Amino acid sequence: MKQNDILRRFIFEALGVRGEWVRLEHSWQAAKEHQQGNSCVQQQLGEALAAVVLMSATIKFSGSLILQAQGDGDLKTLVAQCTNDRNIRGLVRGNDNVKPGSLTELFGTGFMVLTIESETAEPYQGIVPLEGNNFAEALQTYFVQSEQLQTRLWLFANQTHAVGFLLQELPSQGTYKEDWARIEILANTVTEKELMELSCEEILYRLFNEDKVTIFEPETVSFACQCSAQKIEQTLSSMGRTELDTILAERGNIEVHCEFCGHHYTFDKVDIDRITVDEQTLH
Ligand SMILES: [Zn+2]
Repeated sequence: MKQNDILRRFIFEALGVRGEWVRLEHSWQAAKEHQQGNSCVQQQLGEALAAVVLMSATIKFSGSLILQAQGDGDLKTLVAQCTNDRNIRGLVRGNDNVKPGSLTELFGTGFMVLTIESETAEPYQGIVPLEGNNFAEALQTYFVQSEQLQTRLWLFANQTHAVGFLLQELPSQGTYKEDWARIEILANTVTEKELMELSCEEILYRLFNEDKVTIFEPETVSFACQCSAQKIEQTLSSMGRTELDTILAERGNIEVHCEFCGHHYTFDKVDIDRITVDEQTLH
């Protein structure tokens, strides 16, 4: 069975605990292809992408789940996004001084926001303190404090793979403290090497072979950008004709570059006439 670019969900029904496992390979390599930055910068992006895939599967929604971290440190901006169809994309900006460290050492003073952009409901935003040794620590603190859900998260990334593992008590079902503590102790022995190399079934057998666990069908994770000429035209249109004319006069045409996928969009005067036609008729 395919063991990369898939998400697996599983559940310990008797214990009221659910879990997820993800390993990204081609989708991760495609997502970072258009991103600059040293291996440490890229590692942060990989861990964040594994995290948004895991989190996207803990909720029912139609749209995008976005993790955004921003600070005044050497690592300035990181965005990781996953849709309910498990399409991922990300961007990261950091200088060459970025070296391994805690979130504060990487980002300096800043903030992290989780956003759920839903097609059917108002956007949801949760603020996650940029604290802890890594995204896994920051996010598990967020789940425990803000969502009142016992959660453990493991995230790792290198040049070829990004992996994640999550355990969480089921929201609707009380989990016995003893059961959670036992599962947590067993899970704590999992290593980065195992998550990079073993299949989900092998991991579950190695950690929890005495517990009954139900594992669901794999879900494919892909790199896919949601940018489009239409969306950019909407943004341009909202800028107003005067500003667009100024750019056209300076540069001949308007170039827009998608930072997630590297796609270039070019708009000339004829395009701008078409985009702003509604505005013209209004005047
Ligand atoms: Zn794009």
